[in-house]
Amino acid sequence: MDYYVAPLARLIEQFEKLPGIGHKTARRLAFYVLDRPQNEAEDFADAIVSAKNLVRYCTVCQNITDSEICAVCGDGRRDKSVICVMESPKDVISLEKTREYFGLYHVLHGAISPMDDVGPEDIRIAELLLRLSDGSVQEVIMATNPNIEGEATAMYISRLIKPLGIKVTRIAHGVPVGGDLEYADEMTLSRAIEGRREM
Ligand SMILES: [Zn+2]
Repeated sequence: MDYYVAPLARLIEQFEKLPGIGHKTARRLAFYVLDRPQNEAEDFADAIVSAKNLVRYCTVCQNITDSEICAVCGDGRRDKSVICVMESPKDVISLEKTREYFGLYHVLHGAISPMDDVGPEDIRIAELLLRLSDGSVQEVIMATNPNIEGEATAMYISRLIKPLGIKVTRIAHGVPVGGDLEYADEMTLSRAIEGRREM
């Protein structure tokens, strides 16, 4: 038998799709939403739809933004000779929080992973190479995650960039091996950048 009326079952099902949310929590959240005033539920739904509609990728660095170019790329005070390559916009936020990095970014939106069928053409490598073609960049910091996929991606990209005469560095392993940059604390992350070595 169906315990829930159809619209409620649908809401529970949607919550269950979120990472880290099991059936019990999904049910709790769904009932919570039902108990809230109408306008709150509408605000919640609208926030999801408008984030999806308005957030896009910066045409330069591929980071998330709500305009053509992100705040970092549009900031004239940033050092345009250094690009820090990261896997995800979440990593950029972590490094920005340290307030110790003043160069630009490039977000790959993933890492090369043959096991998951993700090849070099599936992440934003071509866009990175295009940015390097005008000769203004002197150093590319490979700040992909310190796990197998991240290391392979760093190695692959460094082989493409080195022939261009651009210095390629890799962040130090201040970050726990196998870990995610997103979860590294700010101190660890700024030490990892400081301690970077040429690849
Ligand atoms: Zn940008």
